[in-house]
Amino acid sequence: MTTIIQPRARVLQMPEYHPPLGNRDSLRLDFNENTLACSPAVLAAIQSLSAADLTRYPERGPVEALAARHLGLSPEQVILTNGVDEAIHILCQAFLDPGDELLLPVPTYAMYEIYASATDAGVVHVQAGPDFAFPFEALLAAITPKTKLIAIANPNSPTGSVCTREQILAIAQAAPQAVVLVDEAYFHFYGQTVMDLIGKLPNLIVARTFSKAYGLASLRLGLLAGPESLLHWTRRVLSPYSVNMVALTALQSALTHPEAQSYLDWYVAEVKESRTAFLAALTEIGLAWWPTEANFVLVNIGPSHKHFASSMREQGILVRDRSADPGCDGLVRITIGTRAQMRLAVAAIQEFFATGAHSA
Ligand code: PMP
Repeated sequence: MTTIIQPRARVLQMPEYHPPLGNRDSLRLDFNENTLACSPAVLAAIQSLSAADLTRYPERGPVEALAARHLGLSPEQVILTNGVDEAIHILCQAFLDPGDELLLPVPTYAMYEIYASATDAGVVHVQAGPDFAFPFEALLAAITPKTKLIAIANPNSPTGSVCTREQILAIAQAAPQAVVLVDEAYFHFYGQTVMDLIGKLPNLIVARTFSKAYGLASLRLGLLAGPESLLHWTRRVLSPYSVNMVALTALQSALTHPEAQSYLDWYVAEVKESRTAFLAALTEIGLAWWPTEANFVLVNIGPSHKHFASSMREQGILVRDRSADPGCDGLVRITIGTRAQMRLAVAAIQEFFATGAHSA
């Protein structure tokens, strides 16, 4: 059946985005998730839910207040969201008017641009150099009176590179008319944060996710922390029920159960040790990679990148070809899991290069 109905002009121009989520019953080193499990205490909390609990609309307020306390903030300074993705979406909805600009260092996480492109604002890219260091000077130079949102993933994906606290401060001060979003999705693997500046800088907003270190990607849980004067507007475009009861129950346990905290600490320490060993193994194989503070690494595979990703899949290991990202031709991103998992990854990579498959 044909229809004369057209979407908004901007929606008509948007590319479709379908992350490769199919057939992932392998070792998942492709989406930077926790590769093992959430804390058993969190799972037990979910399992204790009753059928009657599920009949009620979820109430985010009490758990939002708990999350705020966990971060040393007031309840007005925190919004729980359906993943950081919803957080990005509502920031774009709340702050981007036609003619405004989202300023984006690239390569970076895809969803900033996708949600901005559904508004009538423009997107200004600032390309990182071949070392993928944060393009600080170029970003400062690209700030204009139209800059309304600046999105900085710290650590960044897919590069693993970081932006310093001093750089964030300088950017926030140079663009007082813009919301500066510092996306700390990979905070636990880095250990540095600007969360303590919330409420001190009037235009700083920090995002965190429970999809990575906490191992709760399927529940869709993220948060925004920021001054009340900004979050007040953001709440207007937020669906009141976007964080469901199962997710809220899990989060309450994740933030308050002592075993949940020690499990998180164990997983993060394991990944950091594993990261050191994996990077050394890549060097030994003769592969170039970029310094990373996250639970993944960007590796230069070269012209056989596609073949590499499919050969790894055949060996039961999923990795993410990032060749289509700006400046990333031939580069593949590999999530870092436990040491035992990464030994399997190293063996598969060795196998690929040993068999000469890379030149096939
Ligand atoms: N920010 C960054 C930098 C990411 O890499 C990701 C996940 N790929 C997200 C946000 C999305 O997080 P969530 O699962 O909470 O939507």
